[in-house]
Amino acid sequence: MGYIRLMDEPLSNKIAAGEVVERPASVVKELVENALDAGGTVVEVLLEEAGLMRVQVIDNGSGMDREDAVLSFARHATSKITNEHDLFRIRTLGFRGEALASIASVSKVMLHTSDGESGTLIRSEGSTITEERAASLRKGTDIAVEQLFFNTPARLKYMKTLQTELGHVIDLMNRFALSCPAVSFRLVHGGKVLLETAGSGDIRRVLADIYGMQVARKMVPFEGGTHDYKVTGYASLPEITRANKNYISVFVNGRWVKQYAAARAVQKAYHTFLPIDRHPIVVLNIEGDPYLTDVNVHPSKQQIRLSKEGELMQLIEQAIGTAIRSAVRAPAVEKKP
Ligand code: ADP
Ligand code: MG
Repeated sequence: MGYIRLMDEPLSNKIAAGEVVERPASVVKELVENALDAGGTVVEVLLEEAGLMRVQVIDNGSGMDREDAVLSFARHATSKITNEHDLFRIRTLGFRGEALASIASVSKVMLHTSDGESGTLIRSEGSTITEERAASLRKGTDIAVEQLFFNTPARLKYMKTLQTELGHVIDLMNRFALSCPAVSFRLVHGGKVLLETAGSGDIRRVLADIYGMQVARKMVPFEGGTHDYKVTGYASLPEITRANKNYISVFVNGRWVKQYAAARAVQKAYHTFLPIDRHPIVVLNIEGDPYLTDVNVHPSKQQIRLSKEGELMQLIEQAIGTAIRSAVRAPAVEKKP
């Protein structure tokens, strides 16, 4: 008689949740990614108690029909990839098909979604669907995640102060806004609006919304390209500095990533301009064939492996360095946001 047993789905979901759902900001990240993948252009995030009591994300995207709405809670259920080949051609933010299953396993979820033809409401509690019924038609998706970690007390205990958790969400929402200037984002905590962007497509306006008008005026555009990569973005003039590197935002094909090599390349571009302990504000968009950018590294999808990294780093350093040098020489390039 063997001792090995296959886990049931609620158990394996909870294990996956350990990696995917680290804190309230992880829930916001996965839900907003879904909203964007669904083509949402208006995305609203409502929080109670920094998201621990409630994270609600409302989008005006494609919505789902009833069958998909039920299936979306299942582990490894995704509309974004179908075969191994697709795994190397990922253009969506999601692809693992495990975020909703993981989130639902450690919280109470209410999903209201409509594709314009039917409307569906689903409630679930710790991986179990408790209610499923027809609901009103309003194209898009409204999903509320309540009592996060209610059934995983150890993780709940590990949460930092509400202020810290909220800080992570604000930071994350700022990055979404910077990477998608054409989407209107709204972040509300306990009734207070913390971020609101117009969704006009103008990145300068987003820079002003997040960093203030004064700073936005002192950021210059840069661009560069090789056969494999294209880099674009905005970089602060040397007179604007910050005490840490958190103001360097790196996006690869629209995804906010922790790409330390790219952040180092940015800093190298500034090395003759800034003292060693001061850092710039930079929004760096890297575009490349998905074939060169492997996101299948960690469930949180924030780490990424890049082919031809050396070539890319040189490109970044050069594009930003050139833009700053010419702006410093000719300060008249400053443009009003
Ligand atoms: P993934 O995003 O990796 O596919 P998820 O668990 O996050 O996995 O979501 C599962 C599926 O549910 C998605 O592939 C998508 O088809 C559907 N879905 C989730 N959220 C939304 C949404 N806001 N609008 C439309 N469809 C959604
Ligand atoms: Mg997803």
